[in-house]
Formats: sequence, structure tokens, C-alpha cells
Amino acid sequence: MIGPGTGLRGSKRVYSHALNEEQKARSILRPAQERAPGQENPDRKPKPAPPGGCAYARPMGEFDLIARYFHRPVRRAALGVGDDCALLAPAAGMQLAVSSDMLVEGRHFFADVYPAHLGHKALAVNLSDLAACGARPLAFTLALALPRADEAWLQGFSEGLLALADEHGCELVGGDTTQGPLNICITVFGEVPAGQAMLRSGARPGDDLWVSGHLGDARLALDALQGEMPVQLPPQVLAQARERLERPTPRVALGQALRGVASSAIDVSDGLVGDLGHILQASGVGARIDTTLAPQLMAACDGHAPEHVPYGWENLLRCVLAGGDDYELLFTAPPGRRAQVEAAARQAATRATCIGAIEAEPGLRLFDAQGRQMDAQYLAFDHFR
Ligand code: ADP
Ligand code: MG
Repeated sequence: MIGPGTGLRGSKRVYSHALNEEQKARSILRPAQERAPGQENPDRKPKPAPPGGCAYARPMGEFDLIARYFHRPVRRAALGVGDDCALLAPAAGMQLAVSSDMLVEGRHFFADVYPAHLGHKALAVNLSDLAACGARPLAFTLALALPRADEAWLQGFSEGLLALADEHGCELVGGDTTQGPLNICITVFGEVPAGQAMLRSGARPGDDLWVSGHLGDARLALDALQGEMPVQLPPQVLAQARERLERPTPRVALGQALRGVASSAIDVSDGLVGDLGHILQASGVGARIDTTLAPQLMAACDGHAPEHVPYGWENLLRCVLAGGDDYELLFTAPPGRRAQVEAAARQAATRATCIGAIEAEPGLRLFDAQGRQMDAQYLAFDHFR
């Protein structure tokens, strides 16, 4: 049986690997003199200079940088970038949902990640928190520490960030910019009808346990990129898994569609078992999971019979149960609402898989194909253990 806080965990998740010359050229962390012209990637094309001059020919200062990459007109917010505070105007009867997530180089991303992917992910992980509460995104702030004002990097980063922001109608309304080790902290604001936010504490014995989309592929990519996979992944499998790691899809539409249907919800950032542990603890319940569903849950193994899963059953379970970085929704709902859950998933153009059930007895129990309870310990990532 696995209970929350049993003290064991999956292998340590650290985003570091040796960089080759091309990867070094992409990293904002390299010293300026090491910049390699001619090694541009598509994310690094700088914007043309503004008409009428070379306003940015001198080294870019803090306020030039904000004006050029992060100052955009707002439509829904009452006031955006440029004043001491932004002003939001939540609609009557709505509560503000607020969440922050910080991304630190070497801890949450590789130094050589494409800047546009990093911009996307920095906002995606925050939108995922809004999704878990069933909130609709409104606005966000961006606190950025940068080793230096690298325009090619800023161009890629802001493009990835703002493209996802536009997709969700979530406006950049302010932030802070400072020199320092690369660190990105976003605070996101959403709105939810008063009293209707989904919480971790609502799971009840007898509820079905559901998960959206796919689990484990982000961890597969992380292991492969760190050279920790015993076998080499086919290039297209690695590319797909890497997309999941670097450009996760926050389940914003599904979260809103589940309001009034799900009894509890959380987003899976630290791994299924660990994040489920938060629901179990907050709700004072236990759960069972049917691990025979694992091959269907991981995109890289979907469609394979359990005895023929590529990369081995142990790897599959480790990635699916303890992987992390999936940003799917894990939620519970009474069995009488199965059709509503499926309708919500269809409406949100994603899938939802019932992987188990909530039980009164505390703890988490995993069952194998023979219906036997497994004693393997798959635990979540914890930054301080
Ligand atoms: P203050 O010193 O009053 O906190 P700043 O001078 O740091 O404000 O910032 C000026 C304006 O630019 C503010 O409106 C702030 O919200 C905004 N801002 C600063 N950094 C960013 C950023 N990275 N993204 C978006 N807006 C930013
Ligand atoms: Mg101020």
C-alpha cells in the first residue's frame, strides 16, 4: 500500500545534460562572446528594428526590453503593463482564481531548450492550475530574471509565451524584470462562478477516478534526453514525447466543462501517484488503481498489448505512475455522472480514462492484471527529498 508521504520516491528529476556546441549556442546561459552566428534556430530570428531608426542598436535596457517584448494592449483587463499595478475587472458573481508557478533552469528545464518552448511551458503550467479549479483564464503577470538581454532569446521566448496566451484569451498585464540567473515566475488570474471551483477535498468513497489525455510521455522524453533509457527511442517517438515535455497542453476547456460534474480535481505535475495523494489526503479517503490500463495511458505505448509494451513494463509503470510534467487533469466523479464526464471530454476534444475508484480505506492500492495487489512503490517528485 502506498500512502501519502511514505518517504520513497521515483528517481530524481533534474534537467541537466552535457551540451554540445549547437545546444550551447541556443542557451541564454552562455557568455555573450560564445555566441555562434550562423547557428540560429527558427525561434531566434530578431524582430526588425522599429521604423525610423536604430532604437535598439545600443544594449537593450530593462524598459526597452519590457516595451519591446512584453508590453501589449489589453482588452479585458482595466489596465495592463506600464503602471505600478494592473487592474482587473472580474465579472459580477465571479471569484478570482490565482496561482503562481516558478521555472528554474536545471530544475524545470534544460539550459538549451528552445526559448519559444520555454515561453509556452511557463504559461502552460500556470494555465493547468486554473484548469484544475475549473477557472477561465483572464490575465497573468511575468516575473523574469535574465542573465542578460539576449534579443534572439527574448524574441523566441515572448513568441511562445504570447501565442499560448492568445489561444486562451489570457492577457499579460504586468510583471518584473531583473538581471540574475534565469528564472521565470508567472502568476495567473482566472475567474470561476462563486462557490463552483473544483477542489482537492471533494472526493467521496465510490467515486470513479479519471485522468485526461496521456500520462508518462514527458518522463519518457526526460529520461531519454538524459541518456537514462536502456533502449534508444525511435526518432518519431522521442519527438512526440519531447513535445509533451516541452509544450504541454493545459486542459483549460476540460476543467471548465467538469465544473458541477467532477467532485474533486488536481492537475498532474509531480506524477499520478503523488498528485492523487493530495486528493486522498485533502478528502480523507483512499483509492485503487487498475494498472492494466497503463499501456493505454502512455501515448508511446498506446495500442500495445501489455505483454508487448515497448521500453518494458517497469519503465512504463514508472513513467505513468510517477512520471510528472504531464499537466493532465486527475479528477473524481460519482459513477452516475459517467456520461457527463464523457460528454465534457468530447466537448473539450480530449479523452478521459477511468483508472480506478475512491475507497473509504485510506491509502492507495495498485492492482495488476491478475487482480493482485502490487507492493511496488512509485512515488512522486518532491523538490526537497
Ligand atoms: P515597479 O518598479 O513600479 O514595480 P517596474 O518599473 O518594474 O515597476 O515595471 C514597469 C512596468 O512594466 C510595470 O507596469 C510592470 O508591471 C511592467 N513589467 C515589468 N516587467 C515585466 C515583464 N517581464 N512582463 C510584463 N510586464 C512587466
Ligand atoms: Mg511601482
